[in-house]
Amino acid sequence: MKLFDTHTHYDDDRFDSCGREALIETLFRDEVEYIMGAAVDCETSRFTIATAAHYPNYYAAVGIHPQSCGEYEDRERALAEIEALAASPKVKAIGETGFDFHWQNNPAPEVQKAFFEGQMAIARRLSLPVIVHDREAHGMTMDVIMQYPDVVGVFHSYSGSIEMAKELVKRGWYISFSGVITYKNATRLAEVVPTIPKDRILVETDCPYLAPEPKRGKMNHSGLMKYTAAKAAELRGEGYEDFCRQTTENAKRLFGIV
Ligand SMILES: [Zn+2]
Repeated sequence: MKLFDTHTHYDDDRFDSCGREALIETLFRDEVEYIMGAAVDCETSRFTIATAAHYPNYYAAVGIHPQSCGEYEDRERALAEIEALAASPKVKAIGETGFDFHWQNNPAPEVQKAFFEGQMAIARRLSLPVIVHDREAHGMTMDVIMQYPDVVGVFHSYSGSIEMAKELVKRGWYISFSGVITYKNATRLAEVVPTIPKDRILVETDCPYLAPEPKRGKMNHSGLMKYTAAKAAELRGEGYEDFCRQTTENAKRLFGIV
């Protein structure tokens, strides 16, 4: 069954050694119908746009990840570059952006916030959806979302509560689940999966990270997303094929792909 992998990092070095182009071609032939490439800084934004140009169903997001914003002394200039790159026809989203408070040496919260707000403003100006990264920062992430009621997007590799998902759905947002839902210790998250309305749920790999069971710990790629999709369908009591069709439709609607 063909799927839409809504969050990938094929720019990652780990794909150099395994033959990136051949892998992506095989994935499009056998495993996925669409791929969204997420960016973490200006360089990966350019890379993702260039990769998208090679495959008809490969789309790009451009943005600065909360862990990358410390690289830029001149925020306005970095954001202006992202906005300029967003004009490229294969760009269908801004991101990933948001907050990451997991690591101690991450950029300061106010720096992350300024970059996040700047990218929400770009999304608003360009009428593009946003790919949000929220790691251990649910409250502050929701505060920023509320400031931009006319901007929607997706919370990728969702890790929040049922209540937070409800609030996001009410505001027009989508919820994307990664391989984390297949992990034994993800019992709380497994309870969230069945509560998402049919038309708002997405799936992703976040490859090369977060490989699902039974491949946990290995290098992830879009061909492993079937394990995550199967788990999500099972948790929701839905047929696998219906779930794949529905999530692909949802992603196309969110990213404006016809
Ligand atoms: Zn990512």
